[in-house]
Amino acid sequence: MGSVQIVTTILAAAITAVAVWLAVRAVLKMTAVIRLGQPAPERFTDKGARTRTMLVETAGHTRMLKWGVVGAAHWFVMVGFVVLSLLVLEAYFEVVTPTGGLPIIGHWTVFGLATEWIGILGLVGILVLMAIRLRNRPTRPGGRSRFTGSTMWQGYFVEWIVLLVLIFGFVIRGFKVATDHFEYPLWATPVSHAVGAMLPDWSDGASVAALIKIAISMTWLIVISLNVTMGVAWHRFLAFPNIFFKREPAKPAGSGLGALRPMTSQGKPLDFEEADPEKDQFGVAHVEQFSWKGLLDFSTCTECGRCQSQCPAWNTGKPLSPKLLVLSLRDHAYAKAPYLLAGGGKDLTGEEKATQAQLAHLDVLSLAEGDKPLIGDSESGGVIDPDVLWSCTTCGACVEQCPVDIEHVDHIVDMRRYQVLIESSFPSEAGVMLRNLENKGNPWGAPQNTREDWTKGLDFEVPRVGEVDDFEYLFWVGCAGAFEDRAKKTTRAVATLLNEAGVKFAILGEGETCSGDPARRIGNEFVFQMLAQQNVETLNEAFEGREKAKRKIVATCPHCFNTLGNEYGQLGGEFEVVHHTQLLAHLVATGKLTPVQPVDGGVTYHDPCYLGRHNRIFAAPREVLGDAIAGDLTEMPRNSERSFCCGAGGARMWMEEKIGKRINVDRVEEAMATGAKTVAVGCPFCSTMLNDGVNGKGAGEQVEVIDVASVLLRSVKPEQPQGGRETAPIGG
Ligand code: SF4
Ligand code: SF4
Repeated sequence: MGSVQIVTTILAAAITAVAVWLAVRAVLKMTAVIRLGQPAPERFTDKGARTRTMLVETAGHTRMLKWGVVGAAHWFVMVGFVVLSLLVLEAYFEVVTPTGGLPIIGHWTVFGLATEWIGILGLVGILVLMAIRLRNRPTRPGGRSRFTGSTMWQGYFVEWIVLLVLIFGFVIRGFKVATDHFEYPLWATPVSHAVGAMLPDWSDGASVAALIKIAISMTWLIVISLNVTMGVAWHRFLAFPNIFFKREPAKPAGSGLGALRPMTSQGKPLDFEEADPEKDQFGVAHVEQFSWKGLLDFSTCTECGRCQSQCPAWNTGKPLSPKLLVLSLRDHAYAKAPYLLAGGGKDLTGEEKATQAQLAHLDVLSLAEGDKPLIGDSESGGVIDPDVLWSCTTCGACVEQCPVDIEHVDHIVDMRRYQVLIESSFPSEAGVMLRNLENKGNPWGAPQNTREDWTKGLDFEVPRVGEVDDFEYLFWVGCAGAFEDRAKKTTRAVATLLNEAGVKFAILGEGETCSGDPARRIGNEFVFQMLAQQNVETLNEAFEGREKAKRKIVATCPHCFNTLGNEYGQLGGEFEVVHHTQLLAHLVATGKLTPVQPVDGGVTYHDPCYLGRHNRIFAAPREVLGDAIAGDLTEMPRNSERSFCCGAGGARMWMEEKIGKRINVDRVEEAMATGAKTVAVGCPFCSTMLNDGVNGKGAGEQVEVIDVASVLLRSVKPEQPQGGRETAPIGG
């Protein structure tokens, strides 16, 4: 070992020792913070499916690749990071001796070839990612950036480190080429040979370059260890467990969508017949009341801003960005952690748990963080502003986009639950809806005995459950479908089409109440459970004696469809629920319904969030429209998985939209820009919102918003009176 190698070896060992020590400390700290969360035993089920999904999503980059160029570039950088870690290891042999290499594999041409090309592609990948970050930098004049609010220096730092590590990999090899100590042939390692041709014949060159490479890598490790909230770096490790522990591992996409998680206390679902707010946790009032998976979610955020770029609230000037929400919760959790780890925190009655002595050694910042309300405006020093919390439509665009499977909607609703159930703090205008649900069983407060009014004037009898028992489908009408004039037309269209196709169906009529979706999404789990239990009982009775496959329900409202199909199972109601567009597509495909007159004038389709993203039904409505219209469907730029919300979900239908541009107007402008005369929808709430948007723009005469079923009915029975434009709001 020469004198240069003695120095390089000592320096490499020293910086590595410091970096590893700091990294171990950082990992212990992060583990301690994540363990502050509540139990989540359900995350340990289905380990086989979890492992499979984690491997597919990481190795296959299935979620990242939804954004083609970024996904491909990131894949090469990821593979480069994993494989080229071996070359960092090899650098430890090279600081000791410039001709050194990894034992055994370090001498295989195949290893030389693979690492050479992974290095080249990694270089290309990181340059692409750097260009994309620069092109989308928040400071770019006039640009709207998904990186707004991200900690930009951290992104640049990580990218430069990757670039330099890759470059120095080639420099080390270059010195070996220049000193004639490189054992891989030119055909396998062309870039290394080209670099070697430019470097001097310096015998210590490889050792010095290896030291620089180690120093760069360890600087990265030191910096990220000193910044445990640096998700842009830590996600390299945390993405694996975060994906492994996602809510529904068998779901390739939208694991955190569809059903909401039941309300839990100490990891157990709460039953309101026994729950006690002084003993049980009602929603989330403090950051440590999220489950440990929630805290892992917050730690894993890469700050990529994909969620933000798709969020309807953010895109229309509201203060909510799912990314900024996650970052606020993350920063608060880590800042509050010293206080919590010292034994601090509030019990369920609001009393401090720690003694004065326990908190005596804490710095004032941790103590101040411990005192911050989780929800509160800037005056009260809240972590999350109420306007942020209540802007969410629960559309799921954030969950859909997140490459590391963060479950934003669950976290938002958990915080809403505490606000509604314990603090009674929510937008006051929604109170009327909640009272109507409790007292009348529907959000509009319409009399229950008018639930069947939509059947009046039909030229056939609509059978009720109880009057007939050989029905194949129970037609779940929903509150909008029964009381709202526009939605009643959809209900009548569906009933007419089912009758035309000879489908045996029956309705519950006055036996139906609200599915509970708006109550659950606003956070009132108590009212949800009350309504849901009543409905489950009614439905179980209606289907008595039938196996699950024969307990078929067809629903026109995607919110009812989602709640009945995905959430009633949590309360003992197992049903086969289809959306009416699915059933209609089937009836057309099997020849039971025949469109005869194509609807012309151009048609575009708006995907309802709770049908599309939340339940991944994209094809059926398009199939129905494809059969019923003249020409091709005109897609809006934001469609299918990336569809833009109408603004009504998450109980936003019953809240005023006071901040920013109206979401429905944004969507209507996009729909009108297609030039289509008909905007087809598959949801009564979307219908209301988009109709309001069209009318607000004074375009009610040029553009018509109607349900897919009504489009099909026009094509199947053109002679049927269609009832004119659908303009009236509430009928009940
Ligand atoms: S669910 Fe929709 S509205 Fe809510 S934060 Fe996510 S993207 Fe934004
Ligand atoms: S998409 Fe996921 S990882 Fe990216 S900023 Fe949003 S929450 Fe973080």
